[in-house]
Amino acid sequence: MNFLEERILKDGIIKPGNVLKVDSFLNHQMDVKLLDEIGREFHRRFKSEKITKVLTIEASGIAIAYPVAREFDVPLVFAKKAKSVNIDGDVYVAEVESFTHKNKNQVIVSKKYLSPEDNVLIIDDFLANGCALQGLVSIVESAGASVAGLGIAIEKGFQIGGRVIRNLGYRLESLAIIESMDDQKGTIVFKEQ
Ligand code: 5GP
Repeated sequence: MNFLEERILKDGIIKPGNVLKVDSFLNHQMDVKLLDEIGREFHRRFKSEKITKVLTIEASGIAIAYPVAREFDVPLVFAKKAKSVNIDGDVYVAEVESFTHKNKNQVIVSKKYLSPEDNVLIIDDFLANGCALQGLVSIVESAGASVAGLGIAIEKGFQIGGRVIRNLGYRLESLAIIESMDDQKGTIVFKEQ
């Protein structure tokens, strides 16, 4: 079991509706040493790629992506949730349905911060149905840039996102893949990697 799986077992809380709360160390209060370790682990896994930018989505992706960008010594760009009235031609746009809030958001990245020369590592905290990642991939592709890979802290392997992204041919690395979790019994089973 790796460091993140151990921490999920210790401090993760399973909620009804297939939601895992990690508020005490990732999503509300943050364990900055754990985040540093996550940064080092993604760097170890993707260091053979010539990453030029790290891309994530606000808000909870930023904390995970920050130590990754620092390890690679490249800029971190985060897609912003935007009101459609504010969108002008200077941005790349994607529509993303929120797994936790069940609403749709348009997310934007300024054209200034992604270009065809970029080789982008996409990072997020959770992977469920894959909407957030597909939105980020489509933004990278709109920019004519390349997706070097995708790094996820916690993939819920019993939801479809991981399969969708891998079937599209992208390299997806998840630090912890949950095979099943039971909110009644409080049990979590990880996929062996
Ligand atoms: P997807 O777009 O893959 O359906 O969902 C991914 C996004 O939803 C992530 O950016 C994450 O913020 C949120 N999310 C999905 N599942 C969970 C979960 O079980 N717990 C938490 N805290 N966030 C989740």
